[in-house]
Amino acid sequence: MDFKNYIRDIDNFPSPGVGFKDITPLLQDKTAFQEAAKALLKMVDNQKIDKVVGMESRGFFYGPILASELKAGFVPVRKLGKLPAETVAQTYKLEYGTDTLEMHKDSVQKGDRILIHDDVLATGGTAAAVCQLVERLGGSIVQCNFLIELDFLKGIEKLNGYDVRSLLHY
Ligand code: 5GP
Repeated sequence: MDFKNYIRDIDNFPSPGVGFKDITPLLQDKTAFQEAAKALLKMVDNQKIDKVVGMESRGFFYGPILASELKAGFVPVRKLGKLPAETVAQTYKLEYGTDTLEMHKDSVQKGDRILIHDDVLATGGTAAAVCQLVERLGGSIVQCNFLIELDFLKGIEKLNGYDVRSLLHY
């Protein structure tokens, strides 16, 4: 199945000059939605995973499905101030300014085998911050797994040393 047929380019979103990959056509197609889940799962290659860590908010579409299929738990990473219990926070640079992501302190135990999942790897700032959070909690990152990688933004350079797999490359 050519998943790229279900990814739509939106110009000037969320700000002027930005080309946005919209994955909602993939999500709303009953066959493509399921086939993409199977393909993401295949990239994990039967490795043992204790927890899938998914980023707000588009990492929440497939993250829990992957977790369920892998018989793992699911851990949400959220923007600052959204998680109710005690958290660890990581601030990272954006093109303009900074952003902060949080995880619950008790969401990952020392030695947990972690699969990180998000929809898109762009500049890599988000994923690198999540890797830092997971490792601060003692987690062991088995793979960083994405639906889409925007190769020209070289996000992979921020994920040096990790097993990075993406279903689609642009
Ligand atoms: P990065 O930190 O790698 O620059 O950006 C990745 C984050 O921004 C991901 O959480 C992803 O959801 C979002 N993102 C950046 N660009 C796009 C895009 O073109 N399409 C979608 N769907 N998400 C994007």
